[in-house]
Amino acid sequence: MSDTLSQLVEMTRTLGQPHLEYVIIGEGNTSARIDDASFWIKASGQGMEHIGPDGFVAVHFEPILAMLERSPGDLEAQKAVMDAAKVDPSSPLRPSVEVTFHAMLLTECRVQVVGHTHPVAVNRLMCSSRAQQFAHNRIFPDEAVVCGPESVFVPYVDPGLPLSLAIRDQVRRYLDTWGEAPKVILMANHGLIALGQTPTEVLNVTAMCVKAAKIFAGACAVGEPVFMKREDVLHIVRRPDEIYRRKQFVQR
Ligand SMILES: [Zn+2]
Repeated sequence: MSDTLSQLVEMTRTLGQPHLEYVIIGEGNTSARIDDASFWIKASGQGMEHIGPDGFVAVHFEPILAMLERSPGDLEAQKAVMDAAKVDPSSPLRPSVEVTFHAMLLTECRVQVVGHTHPVAVNRLMCSSRAQQFAHNRIFPDEAVVCGPESVFVPYVDPGLPLSLAIRDQVRRYLDTWGEAPKVILMANHGLIALGQTPTEVLNVTAMCVKAAKIFAGACAVGEPVFMKREDVLHIVRRPDEIYRRKQFVQR
């Protein structure tokens, strides 16, 4: 088994641990870049907690990304393209239905690993009127250091191609504004996507976002949440000692 795949399996199992309450049953999906032409993606219908290397399928970027430029038609036509994108056509597995946003994020954000989950703590907020407020603000310094100066927020749209296109619009806006890729994408009424250069970074970003969500909900319960000032957020994410610290977090 390749290093990339074994690390992806380990990260996915960690995200699937029941006590974390990130996913249940077949929820969530993960991916990792193999090279410029292909990537591993969790296969449709696989649970994360006990997944093995045989729960992932390798697919080519090109046909998946082409679907975002020109839809091949209805869901059946899209499934045919996803099947044809498999590196090993004889594999009985089908890529996760969210394969399009994984291909798009690995490409547009130039990251190596993507982890998508539905954490209870995050979705409490994503299913509330506070969803966008949580995404666009920071409440404590380590949230800003690990999760970036703000998160991308995506209003609810139908999963599959429409969702991938909506995420792409918001990610491009973020890239224009900040000149760097986001760490966190929050989808209303749906969940969280963590982006990383390593599996460890995806685990860290997910854990910190979940912690921030719990603190935010607690702050709302006792009064109004008090956000960090924008200049304090920018100061902390640009401090050389914090940039050094952040690099230590993601190694491996
Ligand atoms: Zn999902």
